Amino acid sequence: MPCELSIVVPVYNEEPENLSRLLEALESTLAPLSSTFEVIFVDDGSKLATKNACLTLVEKHPHVKLVALSRNYGEQAAISAGLDHATGQAVINMDSDMQDPPALIPKMLEYWRQGYDVVLTSQASRKESPFRQFCSFAYYRLLNAFSTVQIPVDAGEFRLLSRRAVDVICAMPEQNKFFRGTVPWIGLRQIVIPFDRDARDLGTSTYTGYKLMKLAMEGLVAFNMRPLYFIPFCGMTLMLIALPLQILAIIASGEIYYRLAFEIAAILFAVSGVQIFCTGLVAIYLAEVLKEVRHRPTYIVDQLFGFQTAPEHIVAPALARSPTSV
Ligand code: UDP
Ligand code: MG
Repeated sequence: MPCELSIVVPVYNEEPENLSRLLEALESTLAPLSSTFEVIFVDDGSKLATKNACLTLVEKHPHVKLVALSRNYGEQAAISAGLDHATGQAVINMDSDMQDPPALIPKMLEYWRQGYDVVLTSQASRKESPFRQFCSFAYYRLLNAFSTVQIPVDAGEFRLLSRRAVDVICAMPEQNKFFRGTVPWIGLRQIVIPFDRDARDLGTSTYTGYKLMKLAMEGLVAFNMRPLYFIPFCGMTLMLIALPLQILAIIASGEIYYRLAFEIAAILFAVSGVQIFCTGLVAIYLAEVLKEVRHRPTYIVDQLFGFQTAPEHIVAPALARSPTSV
């Protein structure tokens, strides 16, 4: 049965205690606010302890559901799975580790009730290692400097979407969504709420350096064609620089032979460096195109728990087994 509010929580190897703490905080925040709500945990191929913790919560709480994916697909795919299965008129997605404060939800709902389709949050401050803080700071600025869509700086994955916005996003054909870009891209009425992000209390970050790099790269190319246009410009500039260099080489006398040899070597290194860099850029874009044209589903659902019926719009390949009530 459709409800007013859905909370989508992607879960990957999360500390079981974090999940029960989150649910407790959500229940005490939401009970006085929303007539009906559901919490959808999306298990992104976690180890057994985490999955069992989700199952226990589904067993105990009638409004808790679990979408168990067939393996680890990454947070973005897990959010897609959650949005596909959500029935709420408003859908909030948030992290599983209590770093996204449930206390902000009443304010988000207030904006939604005022007519906003998208309520984003931005992390005004965060308690992370100085290295990670610097990387996030630099990344968002770089992303915006090149992006064709304005992406709110320091935005995380804690946001509210109206039913209209969810339907638009779920209908978008790309398989690998980068929500921090996709959500601002759809337009509609949007607002950003800043908040201070606490450090993770229990457990450690499930984002490895590789996962962070992959997400950063996918985000950069998903909303940004400018590097591709930059390549011919780069080539032309190099050709223009080569011309006076050639003239200089003709003018130069024999005694500066060694100096010239070093200079030529330096130029060769610079030029081949730029060439390899540009070829690498094209390769990254090609890889993204390849992923899209393959048209593989974003995720495969292994099993559903706590759902009465499978949502009709979930097509066969994404649903390996029928819904199970626990
Ligand atoms: N997550 C996921 N799949 C992954 C990695 C992470 O669904 O492969 C989820 C995780 O359960 C959490 C959110 O993404 O809900 C953010 O992860 P985490 O807190 O570990 O990252 P950080 O806050 O350090 O960026
Ligand atoms: Mg976290």
